[in-house]
Amino acid sequence: MPETEPLLIDYHCHLDLYPNFEEQFRNCTVNRIATLAVTTTPLAWPKNKELAATSPMVRVGLGIHPHMAGQHPSELVLFERYLPETRFVGEVGLDAGPAFYKTYGQQKIIFERIVRLCAQSSGKILSVHAVRAARDVLNLVEAHLAGTSNRVVLHWFSGSGAEARRAAELGCYFSVNGAMLLKPTAAALINAIPRQRLLTETDGPFTKTGSRLAEPRDVSQTTEQLAKILGLDIEITRTMLRKNLASLERLHSSHAKQ
Ligand code: MN
Repeated sequence: MPETEPLLIDYHCHLDLYPNFEEQFRNCTVNRIATLAVTTTPLAWPKNKELAATSPMVRVGLGIHPHMAGQHPSELVLFERYLPETRFVGEVGLDAGPAFYKTYGQQKIIFERIVRLCAQSSGKILSVHAVRAARDVLNLVEAHLAGTSNRVVLHWFSGSGAEARRAAELGCYFSVNGAMLLKPTAAALINAIPRQRLLTETDGPFTKTGSRLAEPRDVSQTTEQLAKILGLDIEITRTMLRKNLASLERLHSSHAKQ
């Protein structure tokens, strides 16, 4: 395999939130891990874009994290300004969990605006957070993105099997992490998702591997967990994930990496 080809995939990681973030960007390239570095605010966009410029394995997503919704009133203006510079968007989405329910109305206004802006362009790939909000997220995807060349990757999806099937019918991909795969319901969820829509992620540094912060290289273990659940050989699973990534990103492949 040529050295420019990835070996593994971390399609949702907050590289800029590690104390050694510059090293994290470099390691993705050294270890050949195709990484989607998501951001939580457009204020982080310029620095991330600069770091990714010298990290061929890293794509950077322009994001407004639902947990931060409304904290920076000017962030939507900034988001709109930077959007033409990237085909990757994330982290965006909705969180109706108890800790964030009080901002849910504000989150919906922001996420719907983001989805509408993406629908007006083409070939965008959105890494979407959907905690206790799968139905609202899928309704917005169906209303604005289905049938367009934009694609949604559901990050750490926790909806039902029926919602997973609905998402797949709407063209969504799913990035799964190690913590998700340890849940007793993991096998049922994974089996409800078409294999060609699966990707791996860490959501580092918000997750742990043992007692340390998870890093992109930990997708190696996640890929093994996934292979076990699917009953597939590890090498076949790695190849399948690389093909899935290629087919997701092939759309409008004439676009620049970022
Ligand atoms: Mn995240």
